[in-house]
Amino acid sequence: MQSATEGNLGNQLGFPSLFPASASFWCFGKGCEIFPAIRYLRDFYKSQTRFSYKNSSMKQAIKVFKFGGSSLKDAAAVRNVANILRNYNKEKLAIVVSAMGKTTNALETVVEAHAARNGEAFSILNDIKAQHYRIIDELFGREDEVYASVNDTFVEVEWVLEEEPHENYDYMYDQIVSAGELASSKIVAAFLNKVGLKTQWLDARDIILTDNIFREGWVQWEETLERSAKIARPMLEKEGFILTQGFIGSTSENFTTTLGREGSDYTAAIFSYCLDADDMTIWKDVPGVLTADPRLFENVVKLGRLSYREAIEMTYYGAKVIHPKTIKPLQNKSIPLFVKSFIEPTGEGTVISDEVEDNYPPMVAVETNQCLLSISTLDFSFVAEHHISYIFNLIAGLRIQVNMMQNSAISFSLIINDIDDKADRLAELLKDKFKVMMDRGLELITVRHYQQDVLDNLRRGKIVLLEEKIKDKTVQMAVKDVPVMRRKLVPGKP
Ligand code: ADP
Ligand code: ASP
Ligand code: MG
Repeated sequence: MQSATEGNLGNQLGFPSLFPASASFWCFGKGCEIFPAIRYLRDFYKSQTRFSYKNSSMKQAIKVFKFGGSSLKDAAAVRNVANILRNYNKEKLAIVVSAMGKTTNALETVVEAHAARNGEAFSILNDIKAQHYRIIDELFGREDEVYASVNDTFVEVEWVLEEEPHENYDYMYDQIVSAGELASSKIVAAFLNKVGLKTQWLDARDIILTDNIFREGWVQWEETLERSAKIARPMLEKEGFILTQGFIGSTSENFTTTLGREGSDYTAAIFSYCLDADDMTIWKDVPGVLTADPRLFENVVKLGRLSYREAIEMTYYGAKVIHPKTIKPLQNKSIPLFVKSFIEPTGEGTVISDEVEDNYPPMVAVETNQCLLSISTLDFSFVAEHHISYIFNLIAGLRIQVNMMQNSAISFSLIINDIDDKADRLAELLKDKFKVMMDRGLELITVRHYQQDVLDNLRRGKIVLLEEKIKDKTVQMAVKDVPVMRRKLVPGKP
């Protein structure tokens, strides 16, 4: 039987005999509004299943928590996380952690240096090691056995660096960058045990099976569910927490893969889904989901409640607070997601659930490092369907996310992230058949539930290269900064 992949998560709800996987039954949002009776049946069936599971086993509720890099940036931050967890000592809790602070960015520079053979890879790695050892020193002292265990993780990276750079950059990337989550999880698990919070360390690669696409692995849901039932659930039945890594998985040949940058939120959702969690919480440095990134905008407000659908749309369009793939697995099992502050853990945060809120204020998401690819046919014939299907095959092959697109008779415009070499790779492949122009360094601004004055404000001092109004009161615009022109003072003229 073929594995379930990211594309057919709906089939994993476990009622295939009742409803064929191909039916619109599995649609969310729009599809379900068209088939309210079917949605009702689904919700009813699900609530019965969840009810009977809980009653038959009389098991305690399962919670999944995720702590990201900023909540683990130094020894004090790790202590703070332990203090938060003390309040959940009696709970069945699976904890997912990211790499500490900005470790993933630093490990990315190790990969770049190794690939470029510029001789700097070992020294960058040494800085990363030193930061981790400083945290270990502060939390435990050098004598603790966690030191050797974390050291083993970095020795494995050194083995990779001692070899010639691998021809598959993405493969090499995953083998190196995954060390951040492995080191972090070892330190946090050891510290929790040290302060009396019994914690079992779990290797996420034993649970999350992905396909063989490195750096953007797609989850194989069937196997992941099976492994979770076989390995993670029995661990949860024992006393204490389980703690595992975000962001990483493995192929069927046991090579480490990663799920895409910022993917630890998604890992927590995978565990929540597979463990049939009652709720999931991601602990952030903000009080909850805000109407925009507070680093970029003033006067933002916290949203108390969000529907799954609104959260999917917001994160898909680039609201960086939650990884966009996180919501769907939770929605499929009606698992509420709480976004809370690790700085003020008693705050209410935001809850994302089935509940629908109708009156959302304007919300803004900004994606930087965007690239506009303007593609036209070499002979200026129309960009017809077969051209578009050719272009999309290339995009799918490279696993590029298209953030915006527009076509006219003779050109096709795409906005994609310009954070790795994929934009160049795509342009190179397209050049055989098309004329390609690239505009880089753009911002993609998306406004949901827009009001005209918000849009006018955002356009100030910018050139809009591409703009689109989408239903649901959403406007997207790809913009470039232009210096604001001012008239010069000319001597003798007023
Ligand atoms: P983690 O520590 O889990 O990796 P991130 O740094 O990835 O957390 O995400 C939290 C950050 O997301 C916040 O510090 C904030 O600057 C940013 N952010 C972007 N958009 C929003 C939003 N709409 N609401 C709240 N935070 C946002
Ligand atoms: N450490 C990874 C990253 O920085 C995953 C995550 O933090 O979510 O991308
Ligand atoms: Mg993050």
